[in-house]
Amino acid sequence: MPNRPCWVEISTRSLEENFRLLGGLTGQDADLLAIVKADAYGHSVALCAPAAVRAGAKWLGVTSVEEGIAARALCPDVHILVIAGVFPGQGAALVAGRLTAVVWEPWQLDEIERAAIESAARSAAAGAGSVPVHLEIDTGMSRQGAGPNGLEELLGRFGAGSTLRLEGVMTHLYAADESDGVLNREQLERLNVALEKVHAAGLRPEILNVGNSAAVLSGLAQAIGKIANEHSMRALMRPGLALYGLAPQFEPEEPAGVAKARAQLKPVLVWKSRVVSVREVQAGTTVGYNGTFVATEPMQLALVAAGYGDGLDRRLGNRFSLLVRGERAPLVGRISMDQSVLDVTEIPGVEVGDEVVIIGAQGGESITAFDHAEAAGTIPWEIFTRIAPRVEREAVE
Ligand SMILES: *Cc1c(COP(=O)(O)O)cnc(C)c1O
Repeated sequence: MPNRPCWVEISTRSLEENFRLLGGLTGQDADLLAIVKADAYGHSVALCAPAAVRAGAKWLGVTSVEEGIAARALCPDVHILVIAGVFPGQGAALVAGRLTAVVWEPWQLDEIERAAIESAARSAAAGAGSVPVHLEIDTGMSRQGAGPNGLEELLGRFGAGSTLRLEGVMTHLYAADESDGVLNREQLERLNVALEKVHAAGLRPEILNVGNSAAVLSGLAQAIGKIANEHSMRALMRPGLALYGLAPQFEPEEPAGVAKARAQLKPVLVWKSRVVSVREVQAGTTVGYNGTFVATEPMQLALVAAGYGDGLDRRLGNRFSLLVRGERAPLVGRISMDQSVLDVTEIPGVEVGDEVVIIGAQGGESITAFDHAEAAGTIPWEIFTRIAPRVEREAVE
């Protein structure tokens, strides 16, 4: 049975091309980890994780152990980084799934070590240094990561005989979209200090895990690759949004090269619905909850099978347009949970079954997640991740 017509089309080929494009930007300076957390930013991890691997990704990044288990079932042979840490009771699943945790709290190391020892006792496969982890350094975001005071204690946990192996050192640049680069430089300096301490503790992690889409697009691979080199490490960068075809906006201005990359990145997601019914109304007719829109003249209205329950932001009512027959049709009245209404008075021939584009192109017009974000007062990351699970994700060429 066909579903209610509100669906997302995913071009896995575009995702593959984006991954290769980003790989070309980092070149010899860094490898790329494909961020597929939060169901691949709402794009479906089932479709996107294998596509990233086909394009050459050796690493995937997820939020949690549970997302890691789902990614592992799809991609048996890649490294999977669990970015937001392990929670009490998740160690065994982490070890069984061969997931690589980002760690920064001693209790996280306890959890993983306990699970690793139990697993070794069962299988005899695991021994000293058998479970790799990436240690996050807080270089200024004050979110995750070890601060200067806690670092030594954590490093002491990777001594000879520990089942844990410090494979990577990670940090998150929290203002890579600020083109003056002042905060990046401060963070990288703090990272460097932490790396000196890691080396002084006799540890030799191989991977320096730093940088999101903005960092990749603005050419930070070189600076990060250089720090990695100085510590005999290999840089690993973690683009998300760019993988899905959008380049973040930079403030106050765009660094050289970003415009070109932005033009080459291909949107992976198109979000569509259909016209459910069309009605003609007279001047004075109210539309939607609380009658926030009143027809000022005879109008033609089209009902669309998409509402805030699908992720179409309720704040867009009376202030945004969707595409039908290649033209922009204003959303009139409040957006309901499951439906919304378009003013199609100026668009001849609109009929039941017509495709409505919520994100994507139709005719010569297009609507991006940035457009939604601007109208809703948020960012495209939130627009993507709020597309509801009930909106079916379909693979297209
Ligand atoms: C989500 C995330 C990324 C990806 O960020 P984008 O801006 O989407 O490229 C990278 N690193 C970490 C730690 C993240 O949480």
